[in-house]
Amino acid sequence: MTNADLHCHSFLSDGTLAPEALAARAKANGVELWALTDHDEIGGQARARAAASAAGLPYLTGTEISVSFAGVTVHIVGLGFDADDATLVQGLAATRGGREARAREMAAELAKVGIRGAYEGALKYVGNPEVISRTHFARHLVESGVCNDTNEVFRRFLVEGKPGFVPHRWASLRNAVEWISNAGGLAVVAHPARYKFTPTEEYALFSEFKAHGGRGVEVVTGSHSAAEAVRYAGTAREFDLLASRGSDFHSPDESRIDLGGLPPLPEGLASVWEALAGRIHAPA
Ligand code: AMP
Ligand code: MN
Ligand code: MN
Ligand code: MN
Repeated sequence: MTNADLHCHSFLSDGTLAPEALAARAKANGVELWALTDHDEIGGQARARAAASAAGLPYLTGTEISVSFAGVTVHIVGLGFDADDATLVQGLAATRGGREARAREMAAELAKVGIRGAYEGALKYVGNPEVISRTHFARHLVESGVCNDTNEVFRRFLVEGKPGFVPHRWASLRNAVEWISNAGGLAVVAHPARYKFTPTEEYALFSEFKAHGGRGVEVVTGSHSAAEAVRYAGTAREFDLLASRGSDFHSPDESRIDLGGLPPLPEGLASVWEALAGRIHAPA
């Protein structure tokens, strides 16, 4: 089996490492095919691809697009696209564009419960001013002693019904899938178990995703238990989707699963990397 790791983040979104450090870490951990998938951002693709080549690591272009579907935020991973595609570049820029105002609103909401200066605090952790995220607020709330770890932050703050949550309108499912597909890439539903959809809502997500041209689903991810991997292997078969695998690594200090540290895909699934064979950048 190919040790493919097709989901992780650099400091160009909410990871803590540089693309070069991630490439070296992936190689050292035995990854055989890698993709950097920063949230709503492909500004790290040239660096990641060059570093992968220097490390002797086959590479696929990647991103993770924030989408609003049925009132919930869903993440769509794109793999193997042309990173110079103008519509994709513009679509991602528009998606990033809402983050700054959202972050200021989040800080205003936190101030209402007595947590002041959270915007400035979060900014200290931001590597890319266009991608200020809840993760950066979470790091600040831990560092300033409000919470013990980021898991506690996402239980007590920044999520629906809790202080600091701000509803946000991301890209549409249709646009995200079409930007990726029309740029020659393959769209994948990221970590489906995380959305807590009802069976009806989940059926609607996968049906609409397929109808717009979506092709894959993350079966094995750092966000899934073994039972959830089995469950979404069933979804891959039911909807005739290609299976993907990615750690969703963000940081050596925060991530439960390291780059390359995932279990294999369940038997008998067609993988996204077989379908993307012609889009893989071989090392120089
Ligand atoms: P945003 O795109 O600003 O809404 O931030 C979403 C990011 O927050 C995700 O990509 C994760 O990195 C992080 N996140 C969300 N929920 C959790 C959680 N329960 N525990 C840890 N990190 C989380
Ligand atoms: Mn993230
Ligand atoms: Mn995600
Ligand atoms: Mn991710």
